[in-house]
Amino acid sequence: IISVRGLTVSYGDHRVLNGVDLDIQRGEVLALLGGSGSGKSTMLRHIIGLEHPQSGTILVRGMDINRCSPAELKAIRRGMGVAFQGSALFSSMSVAENVELPLRELTTLADPVIEIMTYIKLASVGLGEACKLLPQELSGGMKKRAAVARATALDPEIVVFDEPSAGLDPIVAAELDELILFLNRAFHMTILIVTHEMASALRIADRLAMLYKGSLIAVESKESFTASTDPRIRQFLDRVP
Ligand code: ATP
Ligand code: MG
Repeated sequence: IISVRGLTVSYGDHRVLNGVDLDIQRGEVLALLGGSGSGKSTMLRHIIGLEHPQSGTILVRGMDINRCSPAELKAIRRGMGVAFQGSALFSSMSVAENVELPLRELTTLADPVIEIMTYIKLASVGLGEACKLLPQELSGGMKKRAAVARATALDPEIVVFDEPSAGLDPIVAAELDELILFLNRAFHMTILIVTHEMASALRIADRLAMLYKGSLIAVESKESFTASTDPRIRQFLDRVP
């Protein structure tokens, strides 16, 4: 469903991504691992079309996101939900207003329809009671769930998460993993998740990919990834208690 070819990105003289190739299959959960600064977030920003690559191509459902028309790009964006690193909710807006945002920006649905869809979405992540609260009135785990509700407001085919469980205690992080897995299993959403948490990746991913200094050094099934003898991968695996 997503195909990345030869993605190369430099900021000034700093080469951040170095000819990355990656195919994400429809319906899978793919975890993207890698140390801090290895280029994970940069890769996501390119995959969702927020930045244009200096070289390489990104196809989403067969469409080159850097060569399509603005109308086509909007259609691709409607099919792709994003939850950035940090929950990135707008602090001046209520939880419901945050979730309504993509519905208002990317659809022409009438207000009452948007309000009902938002309520259903918030209730489905367990925040039905919290819809009028401001982000700062939520716990860390609730903020992340609100970000999930916003990312999935348009029932996208693909959802991209950048370190959704960062800063959560292990129990709340595990609940968030469950929610992400539920989106995949119940609604067949294809999921690309960036994480530092090996345990979380092993819990939810079908395949794991590892970025190391701007290159993808592994894209493997969970089974072969955990059996890897590559020291750069073992270093990650050995962190799991
Ligand atoms: P983390 O796990 O800490 O989130 P990451 O793997 O997501 O790290 P990136 O955010 O992709 O890493 O950053 C990779 C490298 O690119 C870093 O060295 C960063 O400083 C640099 N970088 C990222 N975005 C920019 C930018 N817009 N301008 C300049 N340098 C950037
Ligand atoms: Mg990052």
